[in-house]
Amino acid sequence: MSTYDPDNIFAKILRGELPAHKVYEDDDILAFMDIFPLSEGHTLVIPKKPSRNLLDIDPDVLCTLMRGVQKVARAVVKALNADGFQLRQYNEAAAGQEVFHTHFHIIPVREGQRPGPRPQEMADQEQLAAVAARIRAAF
Ligand code: 5GP
Repeated sequence: MSTYDPDNIFAKILRGELPAHKVYEDDDILAFMDIFPLSEGHTLVIPKKPSRNLLDIDPDVLCTLMRGVQKVARAVVKALNADGFQLRQYNEAAAGQEVFHTHFHIIPVREGQRPGPRPQEMADQEQLAAVAARIRAAF
């Protein structure tokens, strides 16, 4: 299994080297908008401590991350007036992982809606900023 690459996209977002539409941050986790959303409000939650995925993450870091995932999911569902949400998480390329810093996808869903497919183009930055603001206001 490969080791952690500190130059992955999410590590760069954590270091402030790449921009992100942040919705929540504390000492342990960061949540921000996915730029190829599968539904409006698609949010990613990551731990600040480096790990590739669930295979190498410290269990204590995972527990803290999951508390954060619940907190962020509640805000996402409230802000988007969603009827539910999907929680997705991929481990290694074979399973669909593309960014090798542990993350959970929170994908809000309305009754009768099926999230996806992945959009061909990056979401509009103003729309992402507006959704992020609604989510921040829902904590
Ligand atoms: P994975 O397949 O690794 O679970 O998902 C990685 C996610 O990161 C994808 O949903 C993709 O749209 C998202 N993503 C890729 N590059 C960036 C980026 O530069 N910024 C943000 N906010 N999301 C990204």
